[in-house]
Amino acid sequence: MNIKLAELEHRKGEALPFQLTLDAAELKGRHNEIRGITPVNAEGEAVQLGNLYYVKGSMKADVDFVCARCLNPFTHHAAIDFSETFALADDPIISEDEDSDILPLEGDEIELTALLQEDFLLAMPTFPLCEEDCKGLCPSCGVNRNEVACSCKNERIDPRLAGLADFFKDSK
Ligand SMILES: [Zn+2]
Ligand SMILES: [Zn+2]
Repeated sequence: MNIKLAELEHRKGEALPFQLTLDAAELKGRHNEIRGITPVNAEGEAVQLGNLYYVKGSMKADVDFVCARCLNPFTHHAAIDFSETFALADDPIISEDEDSDILPLEGDEIELTALLQEDFLLAMPTFPLCEEDCKGLCPSCGVNRNEVACSCKNERIDPRLAGLADFFKDSK
């Protein structure tokens, strides 16, 4: 779905509401951690104010992941807000302020689908956790420590320091 700049101009500052659904299979194919996903429903509005164009709204989907620590599957109810500002690519405002968040527009349309796909994928975790403090699997006996308290004595050692711990053990 694209939004024609001419249509925004025509509305003279009045917001244009939009609704679209992003293709689930394509998003899944573009993110390694997504195991399953419902279609992504996006809702928002676009408006032109002066020489700037604004797009904002939110999108929702249920996304299936496998927890990176305990390996349990879980479903994340994703609700992602988006808000982007555009100016024409040849507008001096683009080159004047290199640090600005204003995105350049090529052509005479805003490519909404591509924009929202990017925003959605960026909001997906690269290290999905079922709970922020997921205890993970016991490295000794393998139980899910969220469900069972085992009696293994695992000292919590930062993997980066594990070598150091061995070193001190050997030197005793
Ligand atoms: Zn977990
Ligand atoms: Zn254990």
